[in-house]
Amino acid sequence: MLSDDQYALRERARALARGHVAARATEVDNSEDYPWDTVARMTEAGFFGLTIPKRYGGGGGSTLDAMLVIEEMAKVCGVTGRIAVEANMGAVSAIMTYGTEDQRRLAAGLVLSGDKPAICITEPGAGSAATDMTTRADKCGNRYVLNGAKHWITGAGVSKLHLIFARVFDDKGEEEGIAGFIAVREETLGLRIGKREPTMGLRGMPEAEVFFEDMELTPSALLLPPRGLRKGFADLMEAYNVQRVGAGTVALGLAEGAYEQALAYSQVREQFGRPICEFQGLQWMLADMSIQIEAARGLLYGAAAGTGEGFPDPLAAARAKVFASEMAIRVTNDALQVFGAKGYSRAVGIERMVRDARMFTIGGGTAQVLRTLIASRILGRKLPQTRAGHLELAAREEST
Ligand code: FAD
Repeated sequence: MLSDDQYALRERARALARGHVAARATEVDNSEDYPWDTVARMTEAGFFGLTIPKRYGGGGGSTLDAMLVIEEMAKVCGVTGRIAVEANMGAVSAIMTYGTEDQRRLAAGLVLSGDKPAICITEPGAGSAATDMTTRADKCGNRYVLNGAKHWITGAGVSKLHLIFARVFDDKGEEEGIAGFIAVREETLGLRIGKREPTMGLRGMPEAEVFFEDMELTPSALLLPPRGLRKGFADLMEAYNVQRVGAGTVALGLAEGAYEQALAYSQVREQFGRPICEFQGLQWMLADMSIQIEAARGLLYGAAAGTGEGFPDPLAAARAKVFASEMAIRVTNDALQVFGAKGYSRAVGIERMVRDARMFTIGGGTAQVLRTLIASRILGRKLPQTRAGHLELAAREEST
């Protein structure tokens, strides 16, 4: 289904992945340092801002183009796969779609020079229920003053560009009171990076707290006004569908990378006088791994197909992310099993992929919350477990 250009793009990504990125993966995991050297090579190769329109200096590529790069990177290094997501999707997609001309130029300039933007939504008291956020943006004269605390912010401390969500109106739990703002870390007083989380996997990517302490922004920083022409937070969630497909693609790449290694090892490791791939117990495991990988790829590419400059359909994106993230946990674990004790050793790198894969049923919408989204779509109504369902239920209880 790929075009000649896409095959060529994938080959270029594969060459960088199998060379530099693969050689650095273990060290990045051990040191837990963000791989700036890899970022420099990706930027040079045009893998940062691949999806930014050409008129802003970007690659003008599609979601699927970015996925091809993400998949190749994630096959050898989950952290690099995630960098490729954030350098092309998430905040990049939101700003390029909803931003003013100045905001687009600002974002393009930073991303094309190697800045992976950060998105600040989650708070200690507002995870899955993101619209319970309490970070405030108070209008004072011609300025917004932000106060609040976010946590689990990917890239906090390395990212310059921040897309921040804060409450402009008081109504707790109501998404219409939330607005999106753009801030550049080093140029904004009152944006403070807090404690870094020690994580199970994806260790070269910092996850940390971000605090806003009387942080002043001008109205030109407003990306998604609340209750304005746009739908504020709801618009961000539309843009987030592309991020979900990206996250699923990292999970896919991790599964593929682990499977390819397990397949190769099963043909050289001998026990009972024959290669272990001759045993039916392992043959069926390998077959199941390949079936699951192909199914995930079908769902992910399908969600991205035909989106052009738009976002993937929420139902297709949710299905693909749930399946790919759960598939990656199973497949990386099975790959470790094929390697026996060697897989359990930190020397081989399969255990790193198991740890890395574990994240994707949590970040960017948990598997449970996405299942609820899928169910509400296929049933065609709001469910009590969703935000809209909770509000409807509360209103009904109040009126009776
Ligand atoms: P909770 O919401 O407390 O959920 C706990 C459990 O309850 C989960 O199993 C969940 O599925 C379940 N649950 C909750 N509500 C329901 C329901 N209605 N029905 C059924 N089950 C439910 N956030 C950002 O803003 N920016 C980032 O860059 C970012 N990066 C992240 C990177 C990593 C590595 C991780 C792990 C998280 C990141 N997050 C980020 C935060 C992430 O979006 C949240 O972790 C996620 O939304 C879940 O919130 P929570 O962890 O507070 O879990």
